Amino acid sequence: MSRRKLVAGNWKMNGSLQANESLVKALLSDIGAPACDVAVCVPAPYLAQVQLLVAGSPVALGAQDVSAQAQGAFTGEQSAAMLREFGVRYAIVGHSERRQYHAESDETVAAKAVAALSQGITPIVCVGETLAQREAGQTEEVVRRQLAAVIGATGDRIGEIVVAYEPVWAIGTGKTATPDQAQAVHATLRAQLHHAAADRAANIRIVYGGSMNAANAAQLLAQPDIDGGLIGGASLKAPDFLQIIIAAC
Ligand code: PEP
Repeated sequence: MSRRKLVAGNWKMNGSLQANESLVKALLSDIGAPACDVAVCVPAPYLAQVQLLVAGSPVALGAQDVSAQAQGAFTGEQSAAMLREFGVRYAIVGHSERRQYHAESDETVAAKAVAALSQGITPIVCVGETLAQREAGQTEEVVRRQLAAVIGATGDRIGEIVVAYEPVWAIGTGKTATPDQAQAVHATLRAQLHHAAADRAANIRIVYGGSMNAANAAQLLAQPDIDGGLIGGASLKAPDFLQIIIAAC
């Protein structure tokens, strides 16, 4: 099965006009023509800037969130249609930082995935367990519950999503899941997708996120069900992000 790998950077709430320009220029000067998909998911105020910087390059633009609503009295939110106007191709939904700090439920995350799809934006749906859940042996149950909500809401369009397995205990901590640990969860998610859509599951990309870096990327990406990475900290340094792209592509 040849799924085209995806390497997506999640800048989180980092950057400035000047820093973004340096970062993207450094990235584009060495990226060449990668044999995989590459994206940067930038803070909303910088979408217009980065849209111009990546225009005509192999780097796609991504957002870090999207409203579940189409329009109206939702102060502080950005609709999928608005993101689309800035050339956004991917939107992260259900990142653990949003589940944790903004109390986003599985249902909200699923509604956001549907909203993104309605505008032709690929949702990168994050699922993952906390350390306490892993230690309690609940990893499978948690990620399956999170994915089930999205499967139920997206229906026939499930084949158009990207899933990101991001163990919460590995995000920004420097602790990475071992390739075996990550592969085991990816295989579980793949089986769940297969059960829901047997004809499409083999084409759905399941990427890994959680302290992936230039040193550990190759081993993780060598696993049969790891189809790329969602990269936080290491995506803010062009040489590190490029190393991961090379490992993936
Ligand atoms: C993330 O924010 O999605 C992430 C994986 O962060 P980090 O790579 O810094 O752990």
